[in-house]
Amino acid sequence: MRLSAYFLPTLRENPKEAQIVSHRLMLRAGMIQQASAGIYSWLPLGYKVLRKIEQIVREEQDAAGAQEVLMPTIQSADLWRESGRYDDYGKEMLRIEDRHGRDMLYGPTNEELITDIFRTHVRSYKALPLMLYHIQWKFRDEVRPRFGVMRGREFLMKDNYSFDTDYQGAVDAYNRMFVSYLKTYARMGLSAIPMKADTGPIGGDLSHEFIVLADTGESGVFYDKAWENQDFANMDVNYADMSEVNGIVEKYTSLYAATDEKHDTENCSVAAADLKERRGIEVGQIFYFGTKYSAPLNAVVSTPEGEEVPVHMGSYGIGVSRLVGAIIEASHDEKGIVWPEQVAPFQVAVANLKADDEGCTSVSEDLYAKLSKAGIEALIDDRDERPGAKLANLDLIGVPWQILVGPRGLKSGVVEVKNRKTGAVEEMTPEAALNKFA
Ligand code: ATP
Ligand code: MG
Ligand code: MG
Ligand code: MG
Repeated sequence: MRLSAYFLPTLRENPKEAQIVSHRLMLRAGMIQQASAGIYSWLPLGYKVLRKIEQIVREEQDAAGAQEVLMPTIQSADLWRESGRYDDYGKEMLRIEDRHGRDMLYGPTNEELITDIFRTHVRSYKALPLMLYHIQWKFRDEVRPRFGVMRGREFLMKDNYSFDTDYQGAVDAYNRMFVSYLKTYARMGLSAIPMKADTGPIGGDLSHEFIVLADTGESGVFYDKAWENQDFANMDVNYADMSEVNGIVEKYTSLYAATDEKHDTENCSVAAADLKERRGIEVGQIFYFGTKYSAPLNAVVSTPEGEEVPVHMGSYGIGVSRLVGAIIEASHDEKGIVWPEQVAPFQVAVANLKADDEGCTSVSEDLYAKLSKAGIEALIDDRDERPGAKLANLDLIGVPWQILVGPRGLKSGVVEVKNRKTGAVEEMTPEAALNKFA
């Protein structure tokens, strides 16, 4: 991508409406624009990151055996009346009437709709286990939308639903998702701690929230300080081997962590000296809720013994758009965003520090062409701007690697390769710089 042609409306000043750093940086880096309270347009840079996060979520869902579908954003109120949630859900639900006077709603979640799909097609245990997920926009009319995409009203969520014949099968599904969540967040360069959690309006009795520690987070959390040294980055797992999956869940659930609703200092297993109290961002939550929806919606399957039982279900959400903000909260400095490489909008940026110099231009263009040809997502700053402004801009938008091409270096045949995270700069020939990435 050429910066001279890229739609990147960055801001020099700190926007006043932004109270936390991720919101501020997303606006300053030209990633999003507010359309109305809690509703955002995603501009090219922001949308690119959102899609990267979505793709990691998708790959890890698929790896754990879930199948992707796409359900609509607008749902009929009838199904919600069947489950009894139409009235219970309250003002967070955006209710709509169509031209025929039928009650519709913008889905805040999809338990009812997926259960309807299931009951239409599945009657036998032979089709189980089954996990179906989608990545779709949700709407919740939050009382206080704030912090940009962190608490939006319209937001992108991955929600997965599992169907099993009995409790044990459902717990297996729950545990597979538990492990896949650890992997998903780690692949984005995030540490998200699974914490015992309340089930809220989804209902049920087994639940974990996945929490990224951050002072700006809206959840109060308690955990064993040993969590601070955990690393899931290279965790390998064979989902076909349930004893392996369950072993991982046991290992991580044996370390104490709970949200404030669940925490009880008197009865928790951690020594007072090891107990930490902090704030965090909820980036996902998993639930086992048994037959809470299948019973009222009559989603039943026949067992091998020929009995008919309501199917056991769980649901598993990830806040895909909230993650963009959460990653920035976890990874930034005073100059701007520091993207983990796995979700960075561009891997490498080439900065032509003197656009009116023939040597700089030909070396920069050559590097950019070769990086692009090698399949690397590269950005070239080919604008006629001061070098200082170019460097500040690349730091603001957080490109992990920057190749700086200036006349002084070229005199001795070198360019500078800078790491955004550490700030370390290395001089090398343009060929060596290319070989580092391509
Ligand atoms: P919160 O406690 O932050 O209101 P929730 O518990 O109501 O979230 P869930 O029903 O568990 O949310 O939805 C799954 C995930 O969707 C959450 O873990 C969170 O990451 C994301 N999410 C929920 N509400 C919002 C929102 N208003 N804006 C952005 N993401 C959200
Ligand atoms: Mg909520
Ligand atoms: Mg919550
Ligand atoms: Mg939740």
